[in-house]
Amino acid sequence: MRVKCEGESSANQYSNGCRCADCREAWRVHGLEGAVKKRKGVRRDSPIPEHDAFTREQIMEARK
Ligand SMILES: [Zn+2]
Repeated sequence: MRVKCEGESSANQYSNGCRCADCREAWRVHGLEGAVKKRKGVRRDSPIPEHDAFTREQIMEARK
């Protein structure tokens, strides 16, 4: 069964079954935004070097 958004492409239309390029793009962007929001809610902006840098500082402290 085909579903068409008929020019009103959106993530919602994609979830309703439309698979045109615009709806897929809207769905992809929608998913990215959700992922970013979730990530920011948990650990804000810098998930990578902060912990590592802190660990190195601790090692330097321990070597003094
Ligand atoms: Zn569509």
